[in-house]
Amino acid sequence: MANYFDTKIEFLKGVGERIAKLLREELQISTFGDLLQHYPFRHEDRSQFHQISEVHENMPYIQLVGKVQRVETVGVGNKKRLVAYFSDGTGVLELVWFQGARWIASNLKMQTDYVVFGKPNRFGSKFSIAHPEMEVYVPGQQEAKPLQPVYATTEKLKRGRVDSKAIAKLQKRLIERAYERIPETLPAYLIEQYGLISKKDAMRHIHFPESIEWLEKARFRLKFEELFYVQLRILKLKLSKMEKSPGQLLGDTQLVHAFYEKHLPFELTEAQKKVIREIFEDLRSGKQMNRLLQGDVGSGKTIVAFICMLIAIGSGAQVAMMAPTEILAEQHFRGLKDFAKQLGLHIALLTGSTKTKERRIIDRMLRDGDLHILVGTHALLEEHVQFNNLGLSIVDEQHRFGVAQRARLWQKNDRFVPHVLVMTATPIPRTLAMTLYGDLDVSVIDELPAGRKPIKTVHRYEKNRLTVFGFIREQVNLGRQIYIVYPLIEESEKLDLKHLEDGYESIRRAFPDLPVSVVHGRMKAADKDFEMQRFAAGKTKIMVATTVIEVGVNVPNASVMIIENAERFGLAQLHQLRGRVGRGAEQSYCILMTEYKLSKESKVRLNTMVRTNDGFEVSEVDLKLRGPGDIEGTQQSGVLDLLVADITKDGKILQEARLSAMLVLEKDPELILTDHQPIRNHIYSLRQDSTNWSKIS
Ligand code: ADP
Ligand code: MG
Repeated sequence: MANYFDTKIEFLKGVGERIAKLLREELQISTFGDLLQHYPFRHEDRSQFHQISEVHENMPYIQLVGKVQRVETVGVGNKKRLVAYFSDGTGVLELVWFQGARWIASNLKMQTDYVVFGKPNRFGSKFSIAHPEMEVYVPGQQEAKPLQPVYATTEKLKRGRVDSKAIAKLQKRLIERAYERIPETLPAYLIEQYGLISKKDAMRHIHFPESIEWLEKARFRLKFEELFYVQLRILKLKLSKMEKSPGQLLGDTQLVHAFYEKHLPFELTEAQKKVIREIFEDLRSGKQMNRLLQGDVGSGKTIVAFICMLIAIGSGAQVAMMAPTEILAEQHFRGLKDFAKQLGLHIALLTGSTKTKERRIIDRMLRDGDLHILVGTHALLEEHVQFNNLGLSIVDEQHRFGVAQRARLWQKNDRFVPHVLVMTATPIPRTLAMTLYGDLDVSVIDELPAGRKPIKTVHRYEKNRLTVFGFIREQVNLGRQIYIVYPLIEESEKLDLKHLEDGYESIRRAFPDLPVSVVHGRMKAADKDFEMQRFAAGKTKIMVATTVIEVGVNVPNASVMIIENAERFGLAQLHQLRGRVGRGAEQSYCILMTEYKLSKESKVRLNTMVRTNDGFEVSEVDLKLRGPGDIEGTQQSGVLDLLVADITKDGKILQEARLSAMLVLEKDPELILTDHQPIRNHIYSLRQDSTNWSKIS
């Protein structure tokens, strides 16, 4: 049966070949269904007049009625503008024009009632509307207009006379014809439980709402549905994985006990113990583990990983650990080597710089099963790397790896898919984690080792530099070490390197008696490594570096992190950098150095860093500032392609949608109940329509 919504857009009255081509090329709209899903991105509210006294910042485009009291020109140069003071008796609002001032000034009439239409902005305690639409008020005429949809278009479309209004006209025509045919996509009991409106009403009111309330209902319904289907897909995937992949039984704890009793250098935190128990349950369950281990920087994920390795090795399997950079892989290797030695285990490091001769030895030992632990970069994924019996793959800092790479690790064992533990220090807000990693089980280390003092973070300007230098001296005298980090991005690499070198020089001049290391991405790996080692061993007191030290580096004696041009870093990066200190028992500090002039967003970032040490709180703010699109790892997940829902704002709906999807699958994993017919039909229609399906899968 041909689906009505797959009808080519040419068949809609008013759409000729020319417009069809434009819609297809500019907006990827080629069918009725595509057009209906081209939702307006906002509505103009001409349904009522608001009062100036009730105007607030978050209002959309609104309508006011009142009189112009006075007009004046203010500012000079390109700040010059015309301001009209507009009053409706409840308050005064400024109307502002940057262009066409002369014409407007001579045409505005005082004592005439105007309808003003626009988006209110706030400046301090005042509100203003820039370049408002205005017309003379005629009682009884302007109120009646319903909410108007505003659609995204492109320059090319507008030039072809397909503007927002033209699209609205087509939508109106289509929705009238299609309304009765729009199938319900959710089961009746969910609609009832959540008080949702029907799919067809939602489609009508998302375009042409009768009122703000209806618009809200339509949005809620469509968001719920969208998130429900995302979750249903992820959960189904998870279910099928659980069915299909038996896992190697890894349940031996002898090695763990030996380590625990003789070698463990500290008491584990309760959170670490809890997480180890969760992983242990997985490893011995007979099913393949796919688990995400989240823990803020410094929460002690490495030791957890090692103990899990011991369970696997004790049960006769091998372990791989993959890190995103050579520096980090080496650091893991070094950290694990001593533990391994104490227990008589064999461990090796494999990266791009591993010599052929050594590589051959590694390959052979791996195949013979003599090598217990292999740590490395993505070099681990290469063909020649073949294990005798890979039982557990640990991936550190997951957000740097694509899903496809993760999957390649699974193929390293012919008999069983290895258990996978993904570790990330980027605290992902729960809402996002649920969507991104919905196919993984999640464990969280939500506690730092005892005795850690929260890092003190301050924001300082250039004029404070001497004081900051004084502080460096003080800390070095106390026996501590200092990081000074400079931003470096490709686009301005030359200039950035110069800043770093200048900074290095000024440090040398200010502290001629102190040994200083410098590390940046342009250095040879061996030189970088040499400098890192010197700093880690305490031979140098100050480390001047770019963000190469961002991930994972561990020097517990370093207690001060100074970030230069901190306004140029993103929040996640700032938090990662800060996490390099505060790893020992000493009080640690993070100093954010910036210029005076800061954008609003930079200020929010800096204030957030000063206010909190909590990585989850930081990541929530980050998500709000940037939206999920920029958060690493989201690219492949499909969360970006959501049409109505917004992962940064709709966390509550997401939770309900997920819960519903879980209940549905629990009750009816194959979706065969009559109640679930709408779901079955919808999934089927999504599969038919490749464009839509790709949006969801
Ligand atoms: P991350 O989670 O950032 O990878 P690490 O595993 O590097 O953190 O641990 C940070 C530091 O804390 C290391 O020096 C580690 O030895 C130490 N550490 C880990 N767990 C504990 C604990 N339970 N008690 C004391 N120190 C710990
Ligand atoms: Mg780490």
